[in-house]
Amino acid sequence: MTKKIPLVVIVGGGFGGLAAAKALRRAPVNVLLIDRSNHHVFQPLLYQVATSVLAPGQIASPLRGLLADQENTSVMLGNVTGIDSATRHIIVDAGDREGLRVAYDYLVLATGASHSYFGHNEFAHFAPGLKSLADAESLRNHILTAFEEAETEENPERRKALMTFVMVGAGPTGVEMASAIAVMVRTTLRKNFRRIDPKSADIILVDMAKRPLGTFAESLSEAARLRLLELGVDVRLEKAVQMIDAEGAVVGDERIPSKTVIWTAGVAPSPAGKWLGCDVDRAGRVRIRQDLTVQNHPEIFVIGDTASLDQDGRPLPGVAQVAMQQGRYVGKSVFRQMTGKSPLPPFRYFDKGNLAVVGKNFAVLQSGRVRMSGFLAWLVWALIHMQFLAESSLRFSVFFQWIWTYLSAQRGDRLIIEQRENT
Ligand SMILES: Cc1cc2nc3c(=O)[nH]c(=O)nc-3n(C[C@H](O)[C@H](O)[C@H](O)COP(=O)(O)OP(=O)(O)OC[C@H]3O[C@@H](n4cnc5c(N)ncnc54)[C@H](O)[C@@H]3O)c2cc1C
Repeated sequence: MTKKIPLVVIVGGGFGGLAAAKALRRAPVNVLLIDRSNHHVFQPLLYQVATSVLAPGQIASPLRGLLADQENTSVMLGNVTGIDSATRHIIVDAGDREGLRVAYDYLVLATGASHSYFGHNEFAHFAPGLKSLADAESLRNHILTAFEEAETEENPERRKALMTFVMVGAGPTGVEMASAIAVMVRTTLRKNFRRIDPKSADIILVDMAKRPLGTFAESLSEAARLRLLELGVDVRLEKAVQMIDAEGAVVGDERIPSKTVIWTAGVAPSPAGKWLGCDVDRAGRVRIRQDLTVQNHPEIFVIGDTASLDQDGRPLPGVAQVAMQQGRYVGKSVFRQMTGKSPLPPFRYFDKGNLAVVGKNFAVLQSGRVRMSGFLAWLVWALIHMQFLAESSLRFSVFFQWIWTYLSAQRGDRLIIEQRENT
């Protein structure tokens, strides 16, 4: 009788899931990667799609293409809605087939996170976030449309609201978005309009915290804040957003009329904890053990943004490096179990450092004791981001696009592509 080959089902083809799949390349297992979208997205560059520097296809790759040469691996387009851990099945909606049951021997959950509006879900309609390619494209449409409408608007108050952009949350995404819009209005859009002056746009970055980029050292936060001011961004700290509606935001006790409010604040984990009915942390992330498995389920791993693990008394951050290192660890762990080798030592995250870009020619970098801000940090940022794109064709494409944008100040993808209903 032939021995059954174990099936490893990976849910999520983001940073964690893809790293796990690749690490199982030579393992004596079959791998099934399930994702609700057909592509892997390089989320750190989503803001460049939203601000027209790059096209969506320059930061994303089809999962089938990425895994085409990996013979033990297949890909399924489907939305996972639940898990039956007692019988080892996951429940998937695939096309018009709902509630499909897919059996697994090992399960890797790498379903990431979405936006958290901190209990104010009513804000979501007026303040979209940036998490997927669809979000980035829709924001690009929205920002460019605001300038188009401002050009023809006669009412000065309405024109001002169209040219006011509010970012809620001064973490890396908020800082990157605000500075990118500031650069865009001063360079690319500068000469494009006849009735409005894009340079007069108000770009406002709001946060309840005392400083932007709160996960960086104070000196780097201050360097970023000064750079934002130089770029003309109005940085409002220690201010809570009370309300967001179709006319703008109420920040502290001031109403800011704006037709573009962008949510760059919190993230909420995927519902993996609910599917498993297991122990979760305050944010809802699945508490995992040092070997990245779930309590009482040595066959279920949870990794990346949807998992919660402490190291040296502090929770690991929701960053791509954590997800990728955990994905590789899971691949190796399953490989060793399959080949009868001793288990791996507990997972340990190796922090290579943090980077955030603040407009053209300026980034902040923190790695161990190294703290750097300015042009050199920006070069390091550019090299590292290019290196981590999923395919070499994307690296070439992004490299040449960046050179072109740097030299000409022109952005590659300044198109408004609205979904229109058929008439
Ligand atoms: C705008 C932005 C900028 C960022 N910048 C940085 C940065 O500069 N540096 C850094 O280190 N980190 C950055 N991050 C964080 C980083 O992208 C995440 O930490 C990382 O993506 C987490 O990897 P993951 O594998 O856990 O989840 P993800 O990469 O988000 O992947 C999750 C995958 O699961 C799929 N999925 C989710 N639910 C289901 C379901 N029910 N069924 C099927 N598939 C599902 C999704 O489609 C997705 O492909 C940024 C994040 C964002 C949003």
